[in-house]
Amino acid sequence: MAAGMRPGRMPVLFVGHGSPMNAIEDNAWSRAFRGLGTELPRPEAVLAISAHWYVAGTFATANERPETIHDFGGFPEALYQVQYPAPGSPALARRAVALVGEERASLHSDWGLDHGTWSVLLHVWPGADVPVVQLSIDGRLAPEDHLAIGRALAPLRDEGVLLLASGNVTHNLRHAFAAWRAGDRATPEWARAFDQGIADALSAHDEEHLARALDGEAGRLAHPTPDHYLPLLYAAGASDAGDAVRFPIIGFDMGSLSMRSAILG
Ligand code: ZN
Repeated sequence: MAAGMRPGRMPVLFVGHGSPMNAIEDNAWSRAFRGLGTELPRPEAVLAISAHWYVAGTFATANERPETIHDFGGFPEALYQVQYPAPGSPALARRAVALVGEERASLHSDWGLDHGTWSVLLHVWPGADVPVVQLSIDGRLAPEDHLAIGRALAPLRDEGVLLLASGNVTHNLRHAFAAWRAGDRATPEWARAFDQGIADALSAHDEEHLARALDGEAGRLAHPTPDHYLPLLYAAGASDAGDAVRFPIIGFDMGSLSMRSAILG
């Protein structure tokens, strides 16, 4: 157990998942994801909040055997062959719904594991033997609501459940692809500044900064749409001032895409 962890309490993990190709490439990011597997305690189950299940409602996957969803286009065939056959956990799905509140959350069986979840977990626990439930992100909610859902889920940490929030601290793909095509590999100042601001806010448990980060020009540049940012609010909400915060993975892919990951607790 690493310094700062509280015995019996699971840490919370935020991962910058980046390109789906990290699932099948041996690169700096996939090796770093593998490193998380040795750094983290092995949980009883994972509750994953992925940027790629961004819908109008808060749902928990209730499938006994969640399917591996290939929710992307234009990638090599090998990526579509990847399976991550982790079992589900209907009991955890019910528990998550109860914690969030049945007036807001409900069970769902038409989703499985999307690549925000499996492209990371297949490196962290390659045996696919830790049960995984996904919780959707309700795009209609305010930042404070996402933080509140994270807070409501915090008791799971004392029940052996690892909360995995999967997005990216900066995510402007239009900018990233344009820079890539132009041969520009430099990290722009706006990406570096936004990424550092979030790291500082996580370290200080500054929920006000995290809730307001997308407001204004800098926020819109870092996140033209909020889907890849919002998982971070679930991680922050499930964490508190007693959690040590560290960043096992930092750096940028394609110039401006922050791959920062955080372990809270
Ligand atoms: Zn993504």
